[in-house]
Amino acid sequence: MGWTVADLVCHLRALGVHDGDQLAVHSSMKALGWVEGGAPAVLRALQTTVGPNGTLLMPTMTPPMARFVLTETPSYTGLLTETLRRSPGAVRSRHPTHSATVWGRDAAAIASGHPEATALGIGSPFHRLAERGGKVLLLGVDCRRNSLIHVGEALSRPPYFGVVLYPGYHRDLLMVLPDGREVVVPPRDNPGCSGGFNVVQDELASRGQLATGTVGDARSYLMLGEHVLQATRDLLARDAAALLCDDPGCAFCSAARECCDEAMRG
Ligand SMILES: [Zn+2]
Repeated sequence: MGWTVADLVCHLRALGVHDGDQLAVHSSMKALGWVEGGAPAVLRALQTTVGPNGTLLMPTMTPPMARFVLTETPSYTGLLTETLRRSPGAVRSRHPTHSATVWGRDAAAIASGHPEATALGIGSPFHRLAERGGKVLLLGVDCRRNSLIHVGEALSRPPYFGVVLYPGYHRDLLMVLPDGREVVVPPRDNPGCSGGFNVVQDELASRGQLATGTVGDARSYLMLGEHVLQATRDLLARDAAALLCDDPGCAFCSAARECCDEAMRG
């Protein structure tokens, strides 16, 4: 027997998800184990737990492409996120690579204004959710997948921010809106590597601001968005290179570290 919607609701409540919560969710379907009904059942469990006054936000990101069609281009960030994107009442934010899809009471307000904002930066849906008291739920993944940390990075602006970019993310991209209008979105403050983001998770744990538990088979975490932003900003204030990863083969972090060293030399 696999996990049922009722099981998952029970696990989510035990982790600390409440009725009316606004949740940014990052997940691994594989880590959840066998769920009866698959991704739609997981989504139903999340919707049931936060209730009609709650909000769910998931990344529905896409690689840079010649023509991004907001209503058609599928999410590249997993089956659960694509299930949310296709569900009634869901609103996808208008960004050609870093769109988020939001469901629930405040979906439209949280998803709005994305093209004028930055990818995962100031004014992005993740930022808006955190400002409203939202939480981050990690199902079977850790803070290396926690996009809100990129918002903290954007707020702190370490020396590499907006300077070192991944190939393909440095150019204008074309986005087709639901009414057929085409808009060009410049590459404003695109985020970098998240391989080192578990330093934020460790910091939250040491501050007693990280709830841990199991949902289905998945090791899961729940934290307040505001705490994620504060911990990220504190770590970066101490060390501009705090969020960079240790992989010597990571081109992004190598270049970013040089930026930090250069800034230190003045
Ligand atoms: Zn890296």
